[in-house]
This record gives sequence, structure tokens and C-alpha cells, in this order.
Amino acid sequence: MNKTIQDPVSVLSGVGEKRVEALNELGIFTVENLLTHYPFRYEDLTVKAIDEIEDNEKVVLEGVAISDGVVSHFGRKKNRLTFRINCDHVIVTVTFFNQPFLQKQIQAGKELKIFGKWDVNRKQLNGMKLLAVSGDNQNSEAIYHTTKKIRQSTLLKLIRQAWDGYHSVIDDTLPDLLLKEFDLLSMADTIYHMHFPETDVFMEKARYSVIFREFFYYQLKLGWRKKQLKNAQLGKSLNYNVEALKEFFSTLPYELTDAQKRVVNEVCKDLKSPRQMFRLIQGDVGSGKTVVAAAAILAAKTDGKQTAFMAPTEILATQHKESLEDMFKYINIKVALLTGSTKKKERDRILEELGEGTLDCIVGTHALIQEGVNYHSLSLVITDEQHRFGVNQRKALREKGMHPDVLFMTATPIPRTLSITAFGEMDVSVIDEMPKGRKAISTYWIRPKHFERLLTFVKKELDKRHQIYVISPLIEESEMMDLENVTELHATYQKALGPHVKVGLLHGKMPSSEKEAVMADFQENKLNVLVSTTVIEVGVNVPNATLMVIHDADRFGLAQLHQLRGRVGRGSQESYCILIANPKGEKGAERMKIVTETTDGFVLSEKDLEMRGAGDMFGFKQSGIPEFKVADLVEDAPILEEARAQAILLLNSDSFYQEDQYLKLREEIGIIINQQPILD
Ligand code: ADP
Ligand code: MG
Repeated sequence: MNKTIQDPVSVLSGVGEKRVEALNELGIFTVENLLTHYPFRYEDLTVKAIDEIEDNEKVVLEGVAISDGVVSHFGRKKNRLTFRINCDHVIVTVTFFNQPFLQKQIQAGKELKIFGKWDVNRKQLNGMKLLAVSGDNQNSEAIYHTTKKIRQSTLLKLIRQAWDGYHSVIDDTLPDLLLKEFDLLSMADTIYHMHFPETDVFMEKARYSVIFREFFYYQLKLGWRKKQLKNAQLGKSLNYNVEALKEFFSTLPYELTDAQKRVVNEVCKDLKSPRQMFRLIQGDVGSGKTVVAAAAILAAKTDGKQTAFMAPTEILATQHKESLEDMFKYINIKVALLTGSTKKKERDRILEELGEGTLDCIVGTHALIQEGVNYHSLSLVITDEQHRFGVNQRKALREKGMHPDVLFMTATPIPRTLSITAFGEMDVSVIDEMPKGRKAISTYWIRPKHFERLLTFVKKELDKRHQIYVISPLIEESEMMDLENVTELHATYQKALGPHVKVGLLHGKMPSSEKEAVMADFQENKLNVLVSTTVIEVGVNVPNATLMVIHDADRFGLAQLHQLRGRVGRGSQESYCILIANPKGEKGAERMKIVTETTDGFVLSEKDLEMRGAGDMFGFKQSGIPEFKVADLVEDAPILEEARAQAILLLNSDSFYQEDQYLKLREEIGIIINQQPILD
């Protein structure tokens, strides 16, 4: 049988059932898995001169043994192996603890290379590892993630064995052109130098090559998927009425910002195009995304088409319905709200109108495209604050034979590196300009011990008839504790402010009808203060609210704090955000300071990404950001840009689809041969 790197690891000698199991636990099933189980760091094995070594430094010494190894026992089951070596005319004592089996390798006159920890005062090396004295002068050793069941040295030996047996059958699907242009190592050389780097230069090159490949393949896949999503046969060209849009804009009490105009144009272009739209609109809180959505809804209506507008919560859906109705008050367009709390009779009527086509736009939660909702002519789906339009939703639409244009809106500023990785299959529009006349929200950070002083400030705002949000700490592990916290905080505020102040309570465990009622009361200024968990987070619009207090602010992500802060400053009055936190450490304090210093959501999310890493960033936990083996989205961002540019270039070249040299690469990213490619 032919050898391939897909062979199971059990083909290697010394790999029995037990070892297979241990390797499997590390995610290693095939020879390829083993060869690409890359080290996470390297031990520096450069030989140093004795007088250059600092106390306790880990070093490699090279010399000739001037005595045999002697093992002595002490304590219970402990032993030490001692011998002396001559290192360039300095005599050094070497001690290995509890490795008596090394004794047979230590004889007077033998050349030795030892890795250990240096003791300056006693001129003694506490040996950790006996290294092979080989010709190839490798000056660093790979260190791997491993488990108790398999040792570093065993893993390294297996990798060496796999390399020796299989390096001749390692394939490279990366185009030669790229290898040359970016000075990348071939796949085989990359693997070799990742594990056995001969020099620092090779080590760096190998790392760069791995990272480039990881990004390149991922971007190639995303790019391909994007092309498929845009499949011309699936979309519809919308023939909307430009004059109607212009008229709509003229009825608004404000002029669109340049950024809004630009994004409206981008959306309209997509609507007109026969391809299916997949566009993400990013715009900071308050940048005016809703009116852009309204324009798209109206465009669809002028061509007799319907829109489904989905929000993550009922509160938001209700609010969207209301602001759409407000925007459309001079326009003939019919909008309805459908949520879990819609009464049966009303629901039936709405469904009927949707089926008949007398309803132009339906606003609601996810259920809009899932349950027995039948549309007369659905051609646009808008989702607000939905980080990912789930695979299930797409499937539900496809199964109904619908391929509507899809528009996503989010106020979470997404750093570019994440955006092109997690949302790489979408087009992105950014509203990067705020409507004129918005006041910056003054943000302050205080310690919990100053709570009394905060209350004085709260009372002052209340005296001005302003409203206040209070956000309770976020305890991710336990909804129960969130509930306890918010209830307690509610009591604290009610007690401190006195019975004449109406303090409302809002949390995720409340039935939605109750939530609606509380929100409505706050919106109508029947409640002065609203103590809430983060259910308040997105989109809520109460212009009379001027103060946002966030307890245990250090538990939130920076982007999330910014979102919460965006609930205030929606009216014409001066607005404030107070962060209460006792952060641990300098980093925590720095995070709080950053929020007080900038109101630019993108700056904050970049910082968040930098400080917490992609995995921990709020909202991205289940966002489909892939785990790369070696690449880091933050540190390796420049490589990501290069790899992405090359992936796009390749996807847009005819030769990629026609030439045999790309066959393997096409297979790798799942391009079905013989299928006509769809090019832009
Ligand atoms: P978000 O992007 O956070 O969803 P909204 O669409 O809710 O923002 O808009 C926030 C507020 O700004 C609304 O009250 C809206 O009427 C107003 N607005 C939107 N665009 C403009 C503009 N160009 N000029 C002035 N106000 C605007
Ligand atoms: Mg909004």
C-alpha cells in the first residue's frame, strides 16, 4: 500500500493501543496530525561560556566528562547522579536528581551536552536534560503541549520517526508563486523547521509559513463561500423607485449624514443587483442605522416586495416597529409587529395579510422566518444585533425556496481582523460618522467606596427630572446570581433614594410581557430609575435618560461598556456614564481608564481585542471565529491581510478554476470540479 500522511499513527513503531489513545487525546490520529502538532515554544539550547551565565539561568553546557557518573541515594526513594565535566578548562559539577538511568551514558572522557539550571555560587549545574551531541548543532528544542500520558521526549521521537518515514510524501498545495513571492518554506520544510529548527532564521520562517498558510486557506474558503452565496441564479434584481426614496428622505426631520448616504447607496446597489445580498452594516450606537434599514424596506415595497425585520428581543422589536412607523408617518407603507406575545387573533390577521401581500414589512423576533409564516413576496431579511445569521436560519429560508437579500446590522464595533475572519463571507458597510450635534457622554470611573457621593449626583439628575439606568454586575456563570444581584441592587437604590422616587427592575428571568411593561413605563417616564441586568443592552432608546451607572464595570468587555453607555446621550441634555469598579491589577485599571478617555467604539474594541484576545471578547464566543493552531489574530494581523489579499486574487483568476496545478488546492477548500465558477 502507498504511504500517505493520512495513515493512522499506529503505523509508527512503538505506537501500540495505549499510545494511540494518548495521542488521540491530543487530537492526533494520523501521521499528518502528528507532523502538524506544532510546538508552542522553544527552549534555547545555545551553548554559553561559563562567565556569561547568570544565577538560575537555564543553559546548555558542553564539555568532556572527567569522572564517571555516581548515583547516591538519600531520603525515601530519592537519588542523585553526580559527575564533573571540563568546560573549556573550567571544572563544573553536574547533578541530576532522580534520573539514575542516565548513569550508563556518563563515562570519563566522553563528550557531553547538558541542559540545566546554573548555580553561580557553587559553580554547579542542576541537570535537567542530557542532550545528544550531534553534528547538526540544533540550538533550540521544541516544546509541545502534551498530557501526563505521553512525555515530551516521546512525542519528539515519534515526530522524528514520522518525519523520517513520511517527508517524501508531504504534499504542498500552496501555489509556487506564493512560495516565491512571500519567501515561504515548502510544506515539508515548514514542518521540519517547526520541529527541528536549525537556526533562528529558519524557526521564524517556518512560523511565518505556518501562519500564512492558516490564514490563506481560511480566507480562501471564506472567499469561495462568499462567491457561492452571491450565486447569480439565486438572487433577484429589485427594481425599486428612486423617486420614492428621495421623497422619503425629504420627509425626515434631519439630513442623512454622508456615511448614511454612502451606506444607503451600497445597500441599494445590492438590491438592484441580481445577486443575493449578504451585507453587514456596522455603526456605533446612535449612528443611525435604523433609517438605513427603513430605506431598504421602502425600496423593496416600491417593487411590491416584503421585508422581515428581526431583532434579538421583543423589547427591541417593539421599538423598531415604533420607530419605523414614526419614520414612515408620511409614507404609505404597512408595518406590523409579530412576537411571542401577539394575541392569536391579531397573529392570524397578520399572517393572512402577509400571505396576501397587503403587509409590506413585518418586525419581530427569530420566529419570523421559522414557524408557519408564509410570505407573499419576501425579498429582504434584516437582522439587528445578530452577530451571526445562523446556519439554521439560512437553511429554513432555502427550504422555503426563498433567497432573499440579507442585511445585518450591528452596533458592536468589530475590529477589522475579526470582521474579515468571522464575517469574511459578507460585505461590510461602516457608518463611521455620528449625526451632527451629538454631545459626548462624560464618563467617569469611581471606586465602590464612593457610592455615597454617587448617590448625591444621582439625586441631582433626578431633581432635573432626568432618568437613570443602573446596570448590575454580570455574573456569567449563574443566572440565579444575576437575579439575586439585580434584586438586591434594586432594593439598595429604592431605599437610598426614598419612596417618592420610582425605581423599576428589569432582568432576563421576567416573562416578556412584564419586561415590556417595565420598559414602557420607563419610556413614558413613569419610572425614574431603571435597575437592570444587561438585557437593556442593545438599541433601547429613551432620550430623557441622562445617566448610566454600571456596577462592577470591570467585569464587562470594553465594547460592551461602550454599548451600555450608548443608552444615554440620546437627547439634547448633557449625559454621563459612571463606572463603578475595583479592578484587580494595572491592566484592569487601564481598561477602566480607556473607557473614560475615548468615545470611539472602534478604538475600544481594538483595545479590547488587544488586551483580552479574540476568544474572550464579548459577543464573539460562539461567533464562529476559527481557532488557528499557531496564528494569532491580534499579533499576526499583518500576515492576515497579506494572505487575504492573495486568496482574493487567486479566487478571481480564471486559471485557479482551469489549471490542473490548482486541483489539490480546489479540493482542499471544497470546490467541486466541473462546476462552473461564478465570478464577479
Ligand atoms: P442606531 O444606529 O444606534 O440604531 P438609531 O437608528 O436608533 O441609531 O438612531 C439614533 C437616533 O438618531 C434616532 O433618534 C434617529 O432619529 C436619529 N438620527 C438618525 N440619523 C440622523 C441624522 N442623520 N441626523 C440626526 N439625527 C439622526
Ligand atoms: Mg439600532
